[in-house]
This record gives sequence, C-alpha cells and structure tokens, in this order.
Amino acid sequence: MIIVIKQGATREEVSEVVQTIEALGCKADVSEGSAQSIIGVIGDTAGLLPEQFTVLPAVERAMRASKPYKLVSRQFRPEPTEIPLGDVRVGSEKIALIAGPCTVESEEQIVRIAKRVKAAGASALRGGAFKPRTSPYAFRGLGEEGLKYLAQARAETGLPIVTEVMTIGAVDLVAKYADVMQIGARNMQNFQLLEAVGKIHKPVLLKRGMSANLEELLLCAEYILKEGNKQVMICERGIRTFESFTRNTLSLAIVPEIKQQTHLPVIVDPSHATGVSRLVPAACKGAVAMGADGLLIEVHFDPQHAMVDGSQSLNCETFERLVGELAPVAEAVGRKI
Ligand code: PEP
Ligand code: MN
Repeated sequence: MIIVIKQGATREEVSEVVQTIEALGCKADVSEGSAQSIIGVIGDTAGLLPEQFTVLPAVERAMRASKPYKLVSRQFRPEPTEIPLGDVRVGSEKIALIAGPCTVESEEQIVRIAKRVKAAGASALRGGAFKPRTSPYAFRGLGEEGLKYLAQARAETGLPIVTEVMTIGAVDLVAKYADVMQIGARNMQNFQLLEAVGKIHKPVLLKRGMSANLEELLLCAEYILKEGNKQVMICERGIRTFESFTRNTLSLAIVPEIKQQTHLPVIVDPSHATGVSRLVPAACKGAVAMGADGLLIEVHFDPQHAMVDGSQSLNCETFERLVGELAPVAEAVGRKI
C-alpha cells in the first residue's frame, strides 16, 4: 500500500497515519519529497484496504502498489534519488565515471591507476579486494591489505572507493574503508547480505545477477531499502545469453526502464557486459545515450599483465580518450561528463 499525504498536512495528522499503520501490524516508511510526502506501508498488507487510510485527514490517496516492490518504485518516490560520490551526485545531470582495475594487485598499482583515472576525469576509483572467482584456484584478492591500498589511493587522489563485499561477516570491515559497497552479480540474491548492507549508512552498488530479470533485480534493491538504506545504485553488467562473441550480453534497454519504474540511479558496466576491451568505448557511448547515470569501467596501465580481467580492461590512454568522446554524447541527451 502506498499513501500520498496531502500538502499542508500537519505533523500530528501525519503521525496519526503512521500510528494507524502500526496498529495494523505494519511498518510505515515515510518519504518526504520537496512537494509531497508519501508513506509506504511495509509488512503483510494483503488484508488492508485503501479506505482504512483515506478516512484520515492527512491522506490524499491510498493505493495498492501495482508491483511487488514498493520503496524503490517511482510511485513511492517520484523524484530521482541522487547519491553523492566525489564530485558528482549520481542521478543528477553529471554522469559518474567509476574507473579502476578489476582487482587491487599492489599499493603501487592502485595508486598509479587512481592518479591516471583521476586526471582523466573519473569521479570514483573501483578495485576489488575480495574477488568472486569461478575457480577456487584463481587469485581471489588481497583482502584487507587490498582495502588498505585502496584507502591509500583515496588519500593521494581524493577519489572515493567502490569495492565489493562478498559476505555478511566482511560488511563491517569493508565499510571501514569503502565509500560505496559493491554487491557483485553472483551475490545479487544473497538476501541476508542485502539486508546487512541495508543496515549500514553507505551507498550500495547492486549488480544485476547474470540470469536475473528486471523484477528480480528491483526486488533485491527493495531488500536493501527496506532495511533503511536508501542509497542504492543499480548496475547493469550484462546477462548470460546464447551469444558467445561477448562475455555477457549488455541489456541497454533496461536502463530507461529502470529509470521509469524506480527513482534509483543506474550505472552501466560495459567491461563485464562485453568482456572485450575494444567493444567497451562504443558500449559506454550507448549507455550514456540510453540514460545511464554512471559508468563502471575497468582500467589498467598494463591490461596484458593484469591479474584479473585484463582482456576487458582499457589502458589509461584509451580511457582518457573515451572520456573526451563521451562529452558530446552526454550533451546530446542533456547530460554532462
Ligand atoms: C567486478 O566488478 O569486478 C565483478 C566481479 O563484477 P560482476 O559481479 O558483475 O561479475
Ligand atoms: Mn572484473
């Protein structure tokens, strides 16, 4: 159930609505918009009727949520959510560029890449310290040591850090260093992990599972918002299809659809979506044209010798060139780089 509050309703009248919701055994999630406040009724709402709320003086309208998710929906929050990240507010006019290597390899490596991507115009540094790997014998990241190197790179460049958290047990540790907590594709439906990052006060970058549809993706975001953390960016990173010339298939049509159905910003990751560095620049341009609020791009000064995902990583020069090439595309759709 979604309840729209009348403009000019008093605090007491609004709290009467909240008390009514709580008396019915549900929780009220109040979203105060600039023009209007909206309350999401959370819990078992199956037996509730809109009339139980429309009789209250503060209530303009009450309606059943037409989708299984509520807090992430545009119905619930008509204004776009903007998430501060370095020099941008993700979801506003300026497009966020989150760039860096797949994985942190050494302090020297991450600091060197951080300086290059910063100079080229990146807003944030990415890099994994805890890596989900298909093979248990592959390099799985430096762990806390990697987080420390990321923190050093932030200290030297001012770039905020986006890094993955893979387990509930590591949430506090990763949150100590990270500015944005990444939930990887393989963990998209790790519901307890979603609830754990929902309880902390750090933005979350939620990657689409490799076989997840739109509704499943948005329900996972709902898990995080339901716990109180409203700062979620949704990331399209390609899905598994029968096509094999790319690592995954980039689903750009999901970008305007997510933006229509939700108020959350959308990031596109053309690196994992294509798996092929020569396709990444064009995919970035397409993503910007389709309305992406940010790009997650793997960059390494020596992709050939990168420990992980070198074949999809741009070198620093290509990244620099790409940032310049993105500017007119952004401008054409009313955005800025
Ligand atoms: C990554 O960002 O390096 C990563 C492992 O991504 P994904 O979870 O999308 O595969
Ligand atoms: Mn990677």
